[in-house]
Amino acid sequence: MAYKALYRQWRPRDFEGLVGQEHVSVTLKNAITSGRISHAYLFTGPRGTGKTSTAKVLAKALNCEEGPTATPCNRCRSCELINDGSAMDVYEIDAASNRGIDEIRDLRENVKFSPAQSRYKIYIIDEVHMLTNEAFNALLKTLEEPPAHVVFVLATTEPHRIPATILSRCQRYDFRRVGVRELTDHLAHIARESGITATPEALRLIALQSDGGVRDAVSILDQCSVLGNDGVTEKEVRELLGLVGQEAVYRLCAAVVDGDGAAALAGLEEQMALGKDARQLLIELAGYCRSLMLYRATPNLDSPVLAAYGRDRLEADSRRLTHEQLVRLVELFYEAANNSRWSVDPRITAEMALLTACTPVLAAAPEPAARPDSRPQPPARPQPTAASAASPPKPALHAADSASPLATAIAAKMPATPAAVLTEQDLERAMDELLRKVEQAGKRSVKELLKDATLAGYSGGVATLLFQREMIRERVEKDDIRKWLESLLTQIVGTPIRLHCTTERSRKPVQSASPTAEAEIPEAVLRLQKLFGGKITKIEEEQS
Ligand SMILES: [Zn+2]
Repeated sequence: MAYKALYRQWRPRDFEGLVGQEHVSVTLKNAITSGRISHAYLFTGPRGTGKTSTAKVLAKALNCEEGPTATPCNRCRSCELINDGSAMDVYEIDAASNRGIDEIRDLRENVKFSPAQSRYKIYIIDEVHMLTNEAFNALLKTLEEPPAHVVFVLATTEPHRIPATILSRCQRYDFRRVGVRELTDHLAHIARESGITATPEALRLIALQSDGGVRDAVSILDQCSVLGNDGVTEKEVRELLGLVGQEAVYRLCAAVVDGDGAAALAGLEEQMALGKDARQLLIELAGYCRSLMLYRATPNLDSPVLAAYGRDRLEADSRRLTHEQLVRLVELFYEAANNSRWSVDPRITAEMALLTACTPVLAAAPEPAARPDSRPQPPARPQPTAASAASPPKPALHAADSASPLATAIAAKMPATPAAVLTEQDLERAMDELLRKVEQAGKRSVKELLKDATLAGYSGGVATLLFQREMIRERVEKDDIRKWLESLLTQIVGTPIRLHCTTERSRKPVQSASPTAEAEIPEAVLRLQKLFGGKITKIEEEQS
């Protein structure tokens, strides 16, 4: 006997067999029992959630020789023919195959004739959103005046692509993604009944990976059962799906937390050598960071997303990162995974993402990365820089030393690919990081010079720094300070940056003012004034 795919064997034969869609089956059963049969049903929902299976159960329920009944017998001639797919009065149309032009024309011609053998003529149109406008119009004409003996079941994954005129004539049922727990139980049941040995962890992993689709989940179980000699374990599931696996993800995550770029690259290299996919690795890293983020926010959350990793692991790792850092890591890895889709070499995208996640800790760790008491901290925000001649002197840029280095630097949203476009906001964040780097390099004098400047704009790789004092601008231009700053900035954002240093001469220079006037001058400027005073010689003493 030919092998019959597991998901075919386990197709629901009645409403009870439908997994995770009780809201649909209960309503349909009630409608059938009370004789309120609609002429058009619309089944929407993700792939593999049971839409066409339910359509067939509905067809059996309506045409069963013992019916119409909410519990089709599955034994009578009508039920058997529908199960075999050979019932004359049940038409299955795949709108995706040739966009339904011929089928809908036939439908229009034949719909008026009575059913050949049964109570109802049932048209199941799958992927109905693929119909041409012409076909939709033909269908609409039929739906406007449906013959009493006809029932339409339209199934789609994309209800928004169906004309409103059609939608308004259908009774709509939304199929849901099946929950991980329910799906795991269903798989366990199938495995038991089919004589497949499978570990609970393997079944949960399959359920997690099938994104709520029963058909996909059962297919994966089917294929895994052929792979393994000693039953289905997580190993078989990972191999089949090309998953990277938790141990590798833990190691990479640890490298990121330690800011150990070398370890991160070595971990990536190892996975590449094993034939893993760089994009898949990024997705799993993002998934793990997401679980850490959820765990950190709500440790008692009862979710399969957390159960997949184990609480001890989540407890230990989540303590090493702030909420803010975790949010950034999730963003960083998902964005990189997304970019890698179009990347010539996804591995390079993965390398850049990992190094970006590592570098800030490597480069600027004023305190140990592991802080059991660390709390979420807001990222450093530079002062607003809107420039107008009439506005009072702006406070100068200054480093926000309170923010954690990782959060700040990742907040700078360094490009995951060289082609990524920097915004002015990105650059403002990079300026904060620049001040930090300048200080680390021991150039406090340069840092003081920069306090005179604000970022006034950025476009096309050129950042404009607006200085309040010409002589400070001159100093930055002189002595190759500007070039040094440019190289630091380029390093920070990963793309070449040039600095354009300028002063706004129209603005009144800040003079020593009366106490009342002083109150109106921003504190930062007063500090500047104290630092630089009115005499150039004094400032030179301070700076040298
Ligand atoms: Zn029957």
